[in-house]
Amino acid sequence: MGCSLKVVGLGPGDSALLTPQAQKAIADAEVIVGYTLYVELVPDALKEGKELVSTGMMGEMARCEKAIEIALSGKDTVVVCSGDPGIYAMSGLIYELAEEHLDTLELEVVAGIPALSAASALLGAPLMHDFAVISLSDLLTDWELIEKRLQAAADADFVIVLYNPKSKRRDWQISKALEIVGSVRSPETPVGLVKSAYRNEQETLVFSLNSFDTEQVDMLSTIIIGNSTTRMIGENIVTPRGYLKKYRK
Ligand code: SAH
Repeated sequence: MGCSLKVVGLGPGDSALLTPQAQKAIADAEVIVGYTLYVELVPDALKEGKELVSTGMMGEMARCEKAIEIALSGKDTVVVCSGDPGIYAMSGLIYELAEEHLDTLELEVVAGIPALSAASALLGAPLMHDFAVISLSDLLTDWELIEKRLQAAADADFVIVLYNPKSKRRDWQISKALEIVGSVRSPETPVGLVKSAYRNEQETLVFSLNSFDTEQVDMLSTIIIGNSTTRMIGENIVTPRGYLKKYRK
């Protein structure tokens, strides 16, 4: 009996950004497993007739173990994640937990549009050159390592994308991160804040590094800090790739 488990990215929220491949994976499944808020993002038509295992209170480990157990029992299962399942989400943990079942379990990851692409599109074109993505969550990563990476990315003039900037029990990391970047980057550097991209509460705010309002940041925020060449074009944050410098002397 083939058991199928797919880890599916739902994109940032709006069902228009749910890929046809993700829609098909969900439509083909018998069981949908996911954090309650993510199961809510799945369009109702795709949920019809499915067994829903929403795991509001369950931690990530328990959720993934449950999904593997259901898939091994013979039911085609999807685990749904926001954005892309391979970016600070569930696909890595699923592989780790399912390692001894890879002979029986058909595992597949279905890509989704990550928050960084959604935020970039809403802000203009801030990610046109090399960028580093750093999560400020110190739940599974030591804060010292996060600081080291922030410093290295700032020193190397990467555009910096910050994920997980704040949570209910974490509020100081964002100020510290901006302080580290600000120690080597101009105070005028554009910084974009995108809240709830492609959801009803969507908000896009643009600051300079020295005027950033950390009070505006919430759990569903993605922050993009420009590099030394990033500038405003109208209301948009743009990091030049270098075309004009090279071809328009
Ligand atoms: N797998 C997801 C990331 C999950 S980690 C992805 O690929 O995007 C959770 C973090 O993602 C949040 O703290 C926030 O930084 C970011 N995020 C997720 N959805 C978002 C949205 N709709 N708008 C802005 N940021 C979002």
